[in-house]
Amino acid sequence: MYTKIWKIDPFNIDLTLIREAAEIIRRGGLVAFPTETVYGLGADVFNSAACRKIFEVKKRPMDNPLIIHIKDFEQLDLVSREVPEKIFKVIKRLWPGPLTVILKKSLEIPREATGGLDTVAVRSPAHPIALKLIELSDTPIAAPSANISGKPSPTKAEHVIEDFLGIIDGIIDGGETIFGIESTIINFLTDPPTLLRPGAYPVEIIEEIIGEKIYIPDFARGLGEAERALAPGMKYRHYAPDIPMFLVESSSYDDYKLSLLTDKILKLAKDLSRSYKIVTIAATRETIDIYEREFRDNPYIKIIDIGSRKNLYEIAKNIFDVLRKADKTKDSVLIVEGVEEKSLGLAIMNRLRKASSKRIVI
Ligand code: AMP
Ligand code: MG
Repeated sequence: MYTKIWKIDPFNIDLTLIREAAEIIRRGGLVAFPTETVYGLGADVFNSAACRKIFEVKKRPMDNPLIIHIKDFEQLDLVSREVPEKIFKVIKRLWPGPLTVILKKSLEIPREATGGLDTVAVRSPAHPIALKLIELSDTPIAAPSANISGKPSPTKAEHVIEDFLGIIDGIIDGGETIFGIESTIINFLTDPPTLLRPGAYPVEIIEEIIGEKIYIPDFARGLGEAERALAPGMKYRHYAPDIPMFLVESSSYDDYKLSLLTDKILKLAKDLSRSYKIVTIAATRETIDIYEREFRDNPYIKIIDIGSRKNLYEIAKNIFDVLRKADKTKDSVLIVEGVEEKSLGLAIMNRLRKASSKRIVI
């Protein structure tokens, strides 16, 4: 299949190009587009054949439902007839933005989009290209992340091209996404509300808005497995590079714990370099010097900077790109440092735990 690529500046949108992409969505095709979180792989939510195609090309299990992207509150009616007052209050404050809520689905939403559930996951994305595409397609757009199922999510058009060139109808290249990590998914239909997936909106901020604690199950921290009824998608291995990945984490990250963590990683890197050609260490700005000093003369140990512990937005934005880049080095292994499970750190650790093949807690 020929995949059309449109390069669009999010700050100066060329409407004729978006119209072409929207026309493809209207005719039941698949178009990848940038959102503020990651790139999405979009289809007309009311076209069940188009929704099925999303699962086929992603190789996504059919029981892992899609997030439906709407333009504004007016489109809410199309996907759900019942929006409890409490949920409306939250989304009025936080949309458009990276918060996905669970609602009872309307009759018109095909079962393909919801994995057979009677609920839908919905959000309105804070990205000018995504919003314009939904508007011109004249329909809510079902869009999971635009990556082959299980792989790291796409934060740049080149990631989507790697996975889907020749396989989908079109890709809108709108540059790098803003957060680089997926939306926060909360089920407000439970009491207390349940975090289904931590994401770009820190839970603490949402708790402050609703004046209520949100329940954080183990699976939302990337530990254990989800009950099917709670969060269907959460039971699958996710975000993972093909090469082995070691996550080294601690319960806290003060100076003392950080020194234990770096000691452990120095030893691990030396051990692993006996079995692999290349060892990549994904380090934080606070610790990178230690590895660089130790391995200065060792061309087989590569060190990458994932950002500062003091700016988790930076780490979130880099993380999927780091996983994809490391994966390109054959016969290699990746070691990643954990971060504190607070604010955005909860979402980062969820992704890293799910991506890792081995987790070491010091
Ligand atoms: P992705 O778009 O690839 O980030 O995946 C969407 C996520 O939303 C999946 O992990 C799903 O499990 C979750 N999701 C979608 N619809 C529902 C729903 N009705 N109830 C609970 N979780 C959902
Ligand atoms: Mg995904």
